[in-house]
Amino acid sequence: MSKHIAFFNFPAFGHINPNLGVVQELVGRGHRVTCTATDHFAPAIEACGAEPVRYTSVFGDYYTSPFTAETVKGEGMRSFREATTLAEAVEDFYAKDLPDVVVYDFMAWGARFFAAKHDLPAVRLFPSYGANEAFAIHEKFPMAEMSDPQVRDMLTELEAHLPSTGLPGTTAMEFLTKIEDLGIVFLPREFHYDGDSFDERFVFAGPCLGDRSAFQGSWQPSGDGDRPVLLISLGTAATGRPEFFPMAVEAFKDSEWEVVMAVGDHVDPAELGELPSHFHVSRRVPQLDVLGHASLFITHGGMNSTMESLHNGVPMVVVPQMNEQRANGLRVEELGLGRLLPAADTTVESLRKYAAEVHADQSVKDRVTALQSRMHEVEGPAVAADAIEGFLASGR
Ligand code: UDP
Repeated sequence: MSKHIAFFNFPAFGHINPNLGVVQELVGRGHRVTCTATDHFAPAIEACGAEPVRYTSVFGDYYTSPFTAETVKGEGMRSFREATTLAEAVEDFYAKDLPDVVVYDFMAWGARFFAAKHDLPAVRLFPSYGANEAFAIHEKFPMAEMSDPQVRDMLTELEAHLPSTGLPGTTAMEFLTKIEDLGIVFLPREFHYDGDSFDERFVFAGPCLGDRSAFQGSWQPSGDGDRPVLLISLGTAATGRPEFFPMAVEAFKDSEWEVVMAVGDHVDPAELGELPSHFHVSRRVPQLDVLGHASLFITHGGMNSTMESLHNGVPMVVVPQMNEQRANGLRVEELGLGRLLPAADTTVESLRKYAAEVHADQSVKDRVTALQSRMHEVEGPAVAADAIEGFLASGR
């Protein structure tokens, strides 16, 4: 039976991209799907056949933040402001037309306020690591100190806000660490730290990659196929490291690679000067298309980039910018899927050396191909949609 399923997103590429395949699948199964979206993401939602519920985010069109120690400390409070804004903004839209279930990104706390207020069942989405009683990534790789005054202020405000959303007596930590009856993790269990500690409340759908060409365009290699393709990107949210890109140009300007480099919003491609013809630089690229042709990915190790690389069978050199990406890079190295190159050790020479070594290592390629095959065995969007339908049918 057709249901109304409301997705609550966090306005960042890395949070929305993994949802899109699931949204498309649910629409295809005849459900009415609505999704919160800033103007920037509305076309992506519409391309999936879902209805965007537009709102204006405190992060602007989408989240970008240089991950300096200072900005990371303030992120909790900004996320709380985002949550109250989101919950208020959608109230009118949904008041007349309540959904059957709220499906929310774990950072979209506003969804929780909304679901609690209207007593709606909720499903939690994890675009990166899941969290249960035994495992939380921030315990393994701390990001912000709980003792930091800015974090404490946010927890105090959050806790004071909870009674007004229908959650009296809930502490801020209980709110943040709530485990829903259904959590969907967009990773294969094999890649997840402590993956076996997750019980049947969690579904490992793996990356749910929809077709992004309708809103992102497509990409083909320009060469005659002689040059292997190297993708270089530090993702969309970071980068406090503008010096990285000139370094990468220097490292690969005389190389055998066809280099595709996405520099994001913090660097002007024109500042990189005249480039050889085997270099293609832009702010953003249709990453899935490029990975479909790539032999190596030098990445910041965002979870989506990591999953997309593995899904395309592409080994990685991970140059992380923040702790969670370091965790991903360590996992890539631990599983023999590429190498971790710490930011402090990144030089023209080390970039060249790591790229050459990973590319030449057949055992890395074999392990990546083996994991790629296992990932392709799981139809992520169908697995996630089955889980959501099962949850609805159970009446929890
Ligand atoms: N992305 C893209 N083109 C770009 C850069 C990024 O399509 O030029 C997409 C990428 O495919 C991924 C997401 O944006 O789905 C980035 O997510 P990730 O978790 O890797 O990193 P974040 O940007 O959140 O740090």
